[in-house]
Amino acid sequence: METSDVANDLADILVTEEEIHAKLAELSRQIEADYADREILLVGVLRGAVMVMADLARELRAHVEMDWMAVSSYGSGTKSSGVVRILKDLDSDLTGRHVLIVEDIIDSGLTLSWLLENLRSRGAASVEICALLRKPDAAKVEVPVKYIGFDIPNDFVVGYGLDYAEKYRNLRAVAVLAPHVYS
Ligand code: 5GP
Ligand code: MG
Ligand code: MG
Repeated sequence: METSDVANDLADILVTEEEIHAKLAELSRQIEADYADREILLVGVLRGAVMVMADLARELRAHVEMDWMAVSSYGSGTKSSGVVRILKDLDSDLTGRHVLIVEDIIDSGLTLSWLLENLRSRGAASVEICALLRKPDAAKVEVPVKYIGFDIPNDFVVGYGLDYAEKYRNLRAVAVLAPHVYS
């Protein structure tokens, strides 16, 4: 694949690199204020949250630890089933910790609502969520998100960590794929 082919695969840029970084700076200032007297454990959800985690963590002017979890929320289909399986668990003990879950996107909300309950049951002192993107029209369950980047339309998006068949994660922006990619 030629480098230029990647741009040809995109129908529309929804959120630019500049907009993402401005928003992460804004959210970081809120997070620093809210956690002024508490040390944060950032929990990134693999693999989509890798870019958000990297940029948010570097924007934060505070001590943070980072840990990772990998979960699978899909059965055989492409829709979230609500049945979540842990593929890679955290290395950290959450007892007494202030956990901030870092996610790429909230679609149905099923994955995050399960994760929230799961992490809370491990004795964390607090568990909050920071998600870069949210699709309000796709919500099946309400997820209490403390820090949200952008509400977007109910389209399948790629880039900035988000994949289609494991590709496009390395795009700097968030974009809608052109229809020809699927066919
Ligand atoms: P849920 O439906 O449980 O909220 O979403 C679960 C996961 O599906 C998200 O964390 C994300 O990895 C993936 N997902 C949801 N919507 C999209 C999308 O528009 N594009 C991509 N690439 N992944 C998505
Ligand atoms: Mg995700
Ligand atoms: Mg994916």
